[in-house]
Amino acid sequence: MPTLTPDGIGGSEIATIMGKNSYGCARALFYEKRKVERDFPEEDKPLFEVGKELEGLTCRRYADKAGHIVVRNFSWPHKSDMPDWVGGHPDARALSRDSTYGVLEAKTANSQVWWQFKGQGLPLRYILQLQHYLAKTGCQWGAFAVLNRDSGEFRHFEVSRSEKIIAGILVAGDAFWKMVKDPASDGPNRLEAADTRCSDCCWRQTCQGGYNGQKPEKNGLETLSERPVVQLQEDEELAGKLFRWAKFKHIRDEAAAELDVLAKDCKFLMKEKGYWKVTCPGVDGAVTYTEFLTERVDWKRVRAEHPELALKYTSHKTAERLG
Ligand code: SF4
Repeated sequence: MPTLTPDGIGGSEIATIMGKNSYGCARALFYEKRKVERDFPEEDKPLFEVGKELEGLTCRRYADKAGHIVVRNFSWPHKSDMPDWVGGHPDARALSRDSTYGVLEAKTANSQVWWQFKGQGLPLRYILQLQHYLAKTGCQWGAFAVLNRDSGEFRHFEVSRSEKIIAGILVAGDAFWKMVKDPASDGPNRLEAADTRCSDCCWRQTCQGGYNGQKPEKNGLETLSERPVVQLQEDEELAGKLFRWAKFKHIRDEAAAELDVLAKDCKFLMKEKGYWKVTCPGVDGAVTYTEFLTERVDWKRVRAEHPELALKYTSHKTAERLG
């Protein structure tokens, strides 16, 4: 019997197990649960510590905005009809005005992630996290509170219990936990070795053999990791320009995310109100709303099904990127 971590599967892990977390890897989680020794030490996560510190503030903001009573570090009893592996600890318990209890998850985000919350709503991985805790606690609702640690802005999302999602969680969690407990199991499938998640994974040696996490060479260019890292203190000219570049890139990313949200809202309203062309103070010329069909060639499929044809029409040139 392998040595296992005692806590079962936590809410923040279930999306990874279900393949719905583009930052996580189920196989890495399998190694963690099995307590497989890491090939490389875990990196310090100072931001994680900051997030924990700010959790209390986020909970207080939620209590103020939602008008609910919030108790942090509440010790939830395990529901007897839930499998043992349904583990983890919600950040807090909330008591609503109509005297029902719910689970609360409180997170902080940088501006870039914040705009994703604003533009696209609550990501699926957090919905799954809340549903996992609704399964664990038997509550009928949960809330996700998020604080922008750059600007101090705050918002929250409320999620109702979904028996359908919980059933999916139980199936996926059971299958994963069986693998963890079965000494003969090799665990979930590996990701492609060139996946960016593998390049900084603590188990990349154990999992991918000699693969060191570098992307394969492309077009004969040397890989980035072979190049020396230059400290820029001495080069004020470049350091100054890079600083300004990073600052404006940040502004551009925020503006692009805000533009996306506004464009979506404007398109919806213009369509609903039947406005096809409008003028508006502060906007040069007229703004039009048009519907049209788009065409897209599925190059991935062309390459897979007609490799000679794809090769015939593919040309190569060296491009530059600053990242
Ligand atoms: S090396 Fe890649 S596939 Fe293997 S556990 Fe790590 S992230 Fe997952």
